[in-house]
Amino acid sequence: MSEPSAIGIDIGGTQLRAAIVDDGGTILERDRRPTPADDRASLVSVIEELITRIRERAGAALPVGIGIAGLVTREGTVRYGPNIGVRNLTLGKILRSDIDGHVVVANDASVAALGEQRAGAGQDRRDLALITLGTGIGGGLIVDGRLVTGATGFAGELGHVIVDEGGRPCPCGNRGCIEAYASGSALAALARDRLVDPSVVSRLRDLEQVSGSQVTAAAEDGDRIAIEVLEEAGHWLGVALASLVNVLDPQIILLGGGAAQAAAPWLLEPARASMVERLVGADWREAPELALAVLGDDAGVVGAAFLAGEHARTVQGR
Ligand SMILES: [Zn+2]
Repeated sequence: MSEPSAIGIDIGGTQLRAAIVDDGGTILERDRRPTPADDRASLVSVIEELITRIRERAGAALPVGIGIAGLVTREGTVRYGPNIGVRNLTLGKILRSDIDGHVVVANDASVAALGEQRAGAGQDRRDLALITLGTGIGGGLIVDGRLVTGATGFAGELGHVIVDEGGRPCPCGNRGCIEAYASGSALAALARDRLVDPSVVSRLRDLEQVSGSQVTAAAEDGDRIAIEVLEEAGHWLGVALASLVNVLDPQIILLGGGAAQAAAPWLLEPARASMVERLVGADWREAPELALAVLGDDAGVVGAAFLAGEHARTVQGR
């Protein structure tokens, strides 16, 4: 059996997932707990208990990497984590004082991008972007093989690239962000807009409250409105991706997150077409590949473990 290298923890709105990961990105052991709602003291104690248990199973005080949804500073303070209900939680500092060994904390989509680049769909690519489509939209950037954190840690918030100034309201408080056009919640909102016209025929009309997953399910059944919604979301996504490519010139862009796989048959091609059309010098260059991520829900724990292991080796000067 391969040697455990680091522990990755992914803190989501509903559950905390932990894994012992080897240096090739293979998961050796897993554990999980429900995420305590809106209670920072319980959240910290559940994280610490989970680290203690999984380290016992590993038989070593392995470095720990944590990915958490929200704005996370380079020091590991969760400045703003709406899904988990925390503000200004100095998680990195608390854990470094309470438990032994290395602890690093970063944004969940950023560590997922690192996971895909080290052990998933982005292997052998040094320049990569991951965009995660779920209830919201997250993003992570790898440039020249390194995770881009930015000056404060907030880089890679691809969900809030603005594609239409003054456009649809985004949960972040701004308008026209791509999250308001292509997230799971946005698919539902786009569908509801089309159903305002009483002459529109769609099976979505029979559902009391339309959700993003119902839109993709209806598209699978050939529902014309659902397909149009996914194509529209793909169009807007391509507009956002064109700006990303014009700024960063990645080799590959990966779509991950819960909604990506189901939406891809209708969303991917319109996104690619709309992206390519907007690239500077489109006739004189190759567009980057646009593909699905492959690690699924494991991208976060795998990437967090890589971040921790690499950070620990850097600090130890190896
Ligand atoms: Zn926004």
